[in-house]
Amino acid sequence: MFLALAALVLCSLAGLTIYLLLVIRGRIISERNMADALDHVAAAIYMKDVQRRYVYANSTTIRLLRTSRRALLGACDDDLLPAAEAQRIRTSDEWVLESGEDIRDELVVGDDPVTQTVFLELKHPLRNKLGNIVGLVGISTDVTELYRLRRDLEHAARTDELTSVYNRRALFEYAEQDVANARRHGRPVSMLIIDVDFFKRINDNYGHPVGDRVLKDVAAQTRQAVREIDRLGRIGGEEFAVILPEADLAQAVDIAERVRAAMRPLPLQGGISITPCVSVGVASLLPEDRGVEDLYQRADQALYRAKQAGRNRVVAQESHAGAGQ
Ligand code: GH3
Ligand code: MG
Ligand code: MG
Repeated sequence: MFLALAALVLCSLAGLTIYLLLVIRGRIISERNMADALDHVAAAIYMKDVQRRYVYANSTTIRLLRTSRRALLGACDDDLLPAAEAQRIRTSDEWVLESGEDIRDELVVGDDPVTQTVFLELKHPLRNKLGNIVGLVGISTDVTELYRLRRDLEHAARTDELTSVYNRRALFEYAEQDVANARRHGRPVSMLIIDVDFFKRINDNYGHPVGDRVLKDVAAQTRQAVREIDRLGRIGGEEFAVILPEADLAQAVDIAERVRAAMRPLPLQGGISITPCVSVGVASLLPEDRGVEDLYQRADQALYRAKQAGRNRVVAQESHAGAGQ
């Protein structure tokens, strides 16, 4: 949808340029009629000279810049806007004027995600008959709603609906990045795999909705027990993984112990409560690992050992062959 809008606005820009050229040659309508028509377009349309001074602006531009036509014509964005905003506009203007190429840019105005406004900006260099650049023409469209929609969709595509932590795909994408970073900088990285013990019994005894509440709670407790930089994802029904950048095996075991100890009683109706237990498999990246897959497999083998050894415990695997604690 966003691409469709961009294509539409690009076409509009091309159309506008041809239109302006034709109008300049006096072939369609008078300049006055053209300006009246452009004043009714909901996008900001403007022309600037090579010094980036406004030489034309439709009513939407004037309204957005909270100024008057008289004050705008001949002025630069630096005279009208906060410094940071003016600087971003300046950068893209200068690029168009220097490179002679079109630009498509997103301009985010404001820092607060709730109130910020986003503009899709399209700029095109204007040339004289000799081919020299004499200015630029731009269209700026408010795409805040589409931007928010795209951001929400991107977030939803990476998030587990039940627990609000990363989903499996996002977690493994981050794992690839973290492993690549660790390799590049010669730093440690570790992985935990956390599996709720006897979870099927919780479902069987208390029902699926209670099982769901337990999963949400395990995710929340785990999030609190790990560090801010750690990435938590739900990678299966009652299975979570955490990537621990900068943590060697000993540090990862400490964090895993914190996770195991963080499980709290979940109050249910009738004054009873259940306290879930988790088993945790831990592994750290080894020089001989081919990538995330090897790290994951060792953490998973460690988890298997934790289950075999009686559950509600942390087991680390130090090498491909041997188990740790
Ligand atoms: P173990 O200690 O060996 O891990 O045993 P377990 O019972 O935890 O493991 P098992 O693999 O036998 O059972 C996992 C159960 O998790 C089975 C499945 O129905 C349940 N499950 C998977 N996804 C969900 C979910 O989203 N919500 C709920 N409530 N249950 C789920
Ligand atoms: Mg389980
Ligand atoms: Mg499981």
